[in-house]
Amino acid sequence: MQENGQKVAYFSMEIGLEEGMPTYSGGLGILAGDTIQSAADMRVPMAAVTLLHRKGYFFQKLSADGWQTEAPAEWAVEHFTREQPSRVAVQIEGRTVHIRAWKYEVKGASGYVVPVYLLDTDLAANAPADRELTHYLYGRDLAYRLAQEIVLGIGGVRMLRALGHTAIKKFHLNEGHASLLTLELLDEQVRNRRGDGITTADIAAVHEQCVFTTHTPVPAGHDQFPMDLVKRVMGEHDAFIHKDVFCCGDKLNMTYLALNLSHYVNGVAKKHGEVSQHMFASYLIDSITNGVHAGQWVCPAMAELYDRHFSGWREDNFSLRYALSLPKNELLEARAKAKNALMDFVNRENNAGMDGEALTFGFARRATSYKRADLIFTDMEQLRKISREAGKFQIIFGGKAHPNDNAGKELIKHIFAAADALRNDIKVVYLPNYDMAVAKLLTAGVDVWLNTPQPPMEASGTSGMKAALNGVPSLSVLDGWWIEGCIEGVTGWAVGANHRQAEQPSDRANDAALLYAKLRQVAELYYGDKGRFCNVMLHAIALNGSFFNTQRMMQQYVLKAYFE
Ligand SMILES: *Cc1c(COP(=O)(O)O)cnc(C)c1O
Repeated sequence: MQENGQKVAYFSMEIGLEEGMPTYSGGLGILAGDTIQSAADMRVPMAAVTLLHRKGYFFQKLSADGWQTEAPAEWAVEHFTREQPSRVAVQIEGRTVHIRAWKYEVKGASGYVVPVYLLDTDLAANAPADRELTHYLYGRDLAYRLAQEIVLGIGGVRMLRALGHTAIKKFHLNEGHASLLTLELLDEQVRNRRGDGITTADIAAVHEQCVFTTHTPVPAGHDQFPMDLVKRVMGEHDAFIHKDVFCCGDKLNMTYLALNLSHYVNGVAKKHGEVSQHMFASYLIDSITNGVHAGQWVCPAMAELYDRHFSGWREDNFSLRYALSLPKNELLEARAKAKNALMDFVNRENNAGMDGEALTFGFARRATSYKRADLIFTDMEQLRKISREAGKFQIIFGGKAHPNDNAGKELIKHIFAAADALRNDIKVVYLPNYDMAVAKLLTAGVDVWLNTPQPPMEASGTSGMKAALNGVPSLSVLDGWWIEGCIEGVTGWAVGANHRQAEQPSDRANDAALLYAKLRQVAELYYGDKGRFCNVMLHAIALNGSFFNTQRMMQQYVLKAYFE
């Protein structure tokens, strides 16, 4: 392929590229990084755009009673990326804001490179406040967020052009944060035909170029800005006249902007596609279920096992389909190594006093109310009883709360309190500053992955997929990807029934009772029938690891969205 011949531009507010770069907050960013890695593996001609986030999301500190405080997470930009010579500019509140880009190269399995451009406004030519626009991921107020979205969307397209990326056919908006790129594409249409004013033909041309993936079924998760703020920050734009595109009266809703200007729209799991179709009934919404990058998330011990039996599994993840043929003694040996690595870490770094022989559960998500990390502590007596009767177990938690999410912060405190109350009976530890490095140890090292969100709030969830690739089955509420991944007692276990209807909320006390019943069953199986437990581990790999990966996911984007 010729230099700069990339056909697909992937835009994401956050991208998790590697452990040393705190340029992500959680699931969305990790997914973006895994997506790009698989694109590079598969030689998909893609270039990606994001913001630099020079001060990261944040470094999480937890006090003795579990209260979260945040510190900036500075990183050595020059160590990971190379500054590009091009400069572009955007207008924000009437000021010219200059932008540069740092290039990070994602190398695929065969050496093919997908460039990632991290946009940076920290230039001497900018006003002091503007220099900080690309410092903090999801930081500060609404005006700051809107300015960031201008830099990402409008600045991003201009930067790609300045860098010579003129062959791009598709712009993939990974969530609505990048929706403003559609305005720049509209302006390009107008400029190209030396017209004045946007026509319906311009809108149709942009529509053909854009692909939009929505990631949340929670209405508050969809970005919107009051129109007076938009006009103050952006100034007037021709597109504002087209109310059918730039809709919704006194608010600019980034989701609707993306929906109106994309020819292909998808949710991130079958169920999420349906829920989104319900929310946005006048649009056609497909689904492509998320995945994780197998090469990245399989731990060293399991990778060695796969290397011995299925050479080429990294290039062709489908070969994990044959996992049922793995010898059980070798599986158990590799699983023990993965678990020991985790035990060493939690005992050394957190003085957790955990027991490598005990059934170990993992739970790590963004700490926010609907994910219900503390559901398992609803009835402490029940929990003690199960541990006494079915077998000893322990639980490892992790996850950051958004700095403004007080309920999320209280949730972490509640888990600390529960851990304290249970300390003589059940070991519970909360790992601080959950990040990619800790996630790798945790998703690979536990025996069972636990997930208990409030249905239907889970778009997909990906941690359970990382676990499955490592032979770790899930015990999870039937929501998001688990509706597709769960075969009861075969790939893992479901908590409760499938709540398919948004208007049928599940009941917390009832969900807790269902969780306890399954927890007992899982503990009895773990201690009572190792052979059958091994079968569940093998099916997690064969049925879920072989499918819920970004290689399969990227194939679907190529077929349905990019080169249709
Ligand atoms: C995978 C991952 C997430 C996202 O997990 P979900 O299950 O999708 O919520 C968040 N943070 C880190 C560090 C991860 O590795």
